[in-house]
Amino acid sequence: MPDFNEVAPRVWVAHYDWMHVNITLIGGSDGLVMVDTHGSEQQARVVADDVRRLGAGPLTALINTHNHWDHWFGNDVFLSEYGDLPVHATEFALDAMVATGGRHDPHLADHPRADEIQATTLRPANRGFSSAVAIDLGDRVIELIHPGRGHTAGDLVVRVPDADVMVGGDLVEESDKPFIGDDSFPLEWPLTLDLVLGLMTSSTVVVPGHGQIIDMDYVQDQRVELGVIAETIRDLASRGVPASQALEQGEWPWDPELLKSAVRLGYEHLPRAQKRLPLV
Ligand SMILES: [Zn+2]
Repeated sequence: MPDFNEVAPRVWVAHYDWMHVNITLIGGSDGLVMVDTHGSEQQARVVADDVRRLGAGPLTALINTHNHWDHWFGNDVFLSEYGDLPVHATEFALDAMVATGGRHDPHLADHPRADEIQATTLRPANRGFSSAVAIDLGDRVIELIHPGRGHTAGDLVVRVPDADVMVGGDLVEESDKPFIGDDSFPLEWPLTLDLVLGLMTSSTVVVPGHGQIIDMDYVQDQRVELGVIAETIRDLASRGVPASQALEQGEWPWDPELLKSAVRLGYEHLPRAQKRLPLV
């Protein structure tokens, strides 16, 4: 049974089997914030029970690491229980939540729990920020940082400086390779992770969006893999290999099946000067 475990002083993480999602709670003398709210009303009720059972106080704010449904569709359950709390996200993510609601995501149609997900009442974030914002919890301050584009255009990470914790959202994943989708920025992602790594130490506790707790070395390794993918795209394009043959011709660190969007978007995002017309 998932439960909140204290991974650092007054920082608790619950790991849920459904999609290996992590939910993080950070407590201070004046508040308790929750990072991500899971992917449906039904699932968020399970999380809400776990929050109550932990007994660390009422929630005072929510944070959504990005605008994918599995990280914010639970918002309504907590806003209904605790009142109209501030819900923080980057401006990009907030706008995306408001604009699409995620309901028409074509990937959801085939999901085994599609009906449950689609039945959820959606409450987007209501406090946007552009690059960084601090939240005062009384005896501790936490930082929300948008380190650049990567998994989406609007990812944030949450830093708890006094406890040396970093909540990474889906910029890092442990249960699978980080998901490079149709709204990702594969060429910028490595540099975005460099900024995040610059805020870590060798003992930082890193909470990925999905999977088990990891450390700086793990993030560094994932950054290298993403860097190899970006450099391989650049190299292939500069040698005139067309995008349609890139998956076949490249030497990729991951199963090329996972890299379809990466290659398509990578080619699109390359500056003109780095592309050459295919020679054949
Ligand atoms: Zn996710």
